[in-house]
Amino acid sequence: MALRLTRRKSLKVGLSGLGIISANSSLSHSNDRVDVTVIGAGLSGLYSAMLLEEQGFKVRVVEATNEIGGRVKSKNINGHIQELGASDIGIMYARVVDVADKLGLERVPTDIKVHPFSYYVRDNLVNLNNWETSNFNKTLGEERSIPPSRLLMTYLFKYNPLKSLEDWLDPRFSHLDIPLEDYLKEKGISDEALRLMNVDVNCSDIRYSSALSRFADIARLQFGGYLNASKEQYGSDAVILGKIKGGNQRLPEAMAESLQGNVYLNSIVRSIEFSKKEYEIKCENGKSYSSKFIVITTPLTSLKNIKFSPLLPKEKMSAIQEARYSGVAKIYLNIKKSFWDQDGFPASMWTDTPIERVFVRKEPDGSSQNIIIWVNGDTTKKIDSVPKNEMKEYILNLLAKIRPSTKGKLEVIDSYSWSANRFGMGDSYDYGPGHITKFSKAISSSFNGLFFAGEHTRNLDLGMEAAMASSERVVSEILDKTS
Ligand SMILES: Cc1cc2nc3c(=O)[nH]c(=O)nc-3n(C[C@H](O)[C@H](O)[C@H](O)COP(=O)(O)OP(=O)(O)OC[C@H]3O[C@@H](n4cnc5c(N)ncnc54)[C@H](O)[C@@H]3O)c2cc1C
Repeated sequence: MALRLTRRKSLKVGLSGLGIISANSSLSHSNDRVDVTVIGAGLSGLYSAMLLEEQGFKVRVVEATNEIGGRVKSKNINGHIQELGASDIGIMYARVVDVADKLGLERVPTDIKVHPFSYYVRDNLVNLNNWETSNFNKTLGEERSIPPSRLLMTYLFKYNPLKSLEDWLDPRFSHLDIPLEDYLKEKGISDEALRLMNVDVNCSDIRYSSALSRFADIARLQFGGYLNASKEQYGSDAVILGKIKGGNQRLPEAMAESLQGNVYLNSIVRSIEFSKKEYEIKCENGKSYSSKFIVITTPLTSLKNIKFSPLLPKEKMSAIQEARYSGVAKIYLNIKKSFWDQDGFPASMWTDTPIERVFVRKEPDGSSQNIIIWVNGDTTKKIDSVPKNEMKEYILNLLAKIRPSTKGKLEVIDSYSWSANRFGMGDSYDYGPGHITKFSKAISSSFNGLFFAGEHTRNLDLGMEAAMASSERVVSEILDKTS
């Protein structure tokens, strides 16, 4: 679907961070008449709004937080733009690239240099050369020679039976809709390898996440050019990926600016009710909005807190109630002095501790080295449970235990957890066992005038691209309904 962006208008967000209408009117029913209300100002909501306007619909966007972008969130931390949310634009991201280009945003390669890993497993630090023979490597047989950081990818690549991007929805593969751990156990993977695989897995937990869903993600990554499981997915070895110059969040911000309709921030939707041939949504701030159609892009976990009248179909409700997301937290550190020169181990660390992965990075201009600690899945709960004011001490103490040479050389400067975010809850929706079979259709299917988009309704694509692909689907569903 080609975009035609002729009319630019500045984003209707006042200095207070409120939408212009809500800032100027009393707590009452909004009087801007629109055809469609879009809930969520992430990529899927904004792209839906852009496409709908292009098709002649009047649209408003209602967003819970005080900013645009959802899980695309950039922040200047110590003079460097860091991506708290989505970082990489994959090579098959046609929609993301197309919209960025049309909005005049410059894309640049992701060229951060990441130092190689040393491994900290069972309270011992080791470099890769010694991993296979070390006596705290408790994996078995051929597993022993595989770096802990590559174990899961190696076996997912080895066993992936999906040959095309659509296969994950084919009933021929529904027997794989079981916990990933059960599947791998059947293949003879040892308990220790399974424990290590669960460290940095991009889902909540391998004991929960559907093997079929993991294989679908591998197929999508392979389609995106990631073909060698022995290479790290990120870092200097990665398939060339891109980002938006100045921060990825500039993309959703520019998308919001391009809209004719209003974008209302700080508007947490609490209920959606159908009456008098229209839907009325009510927000926590007392505002209500009416329209014939609603596009809902909030993550499923956030949908749990919205009341629907009439109720949504049973299967959709079950999918919402049972939804779980793959958590992710990042902690940012400054390096006051190099610590790896002192002990001789590779600078970055892959660990089986609650901080999981410690990426020591060099900025593209060589200006500084800094650290991102990256925690995935349910381990983020451990990080989330650390009180904010104790976080710095907790991280530095843990690092000093893992690697005494870090003592006095590091400084924690910021942290962000998506699992602790009330409206984001994680990197992506995590299909549990049996959920693909039971819920994949129900999650995305429309219900009367309600249409459902967002990354969680993904089909062939990943992450940001999946979010935008879902916008095309809902817009064509609305066009079908109105033609
Ligand atoms: C740390 C991290 C790293 C990632 N890395 C990548 C990557 O490298 N590449 C990639 O392609 N993808 C990546 N992703 C995934 C990508 O960010 C998401 O797939 C995509 O941004 C989701 O867009 P969305 O519009 O579906 O959802 P969201 O961006 O979550 O938008 C939904 C919006 O709905 C709002 N909302 C929620 N509840 C309500 C409510 N009750 N009322 C009103 N509004 C509400 C939310 O505040 C949010 O703004 C990453 C995600 C994270 C968290």
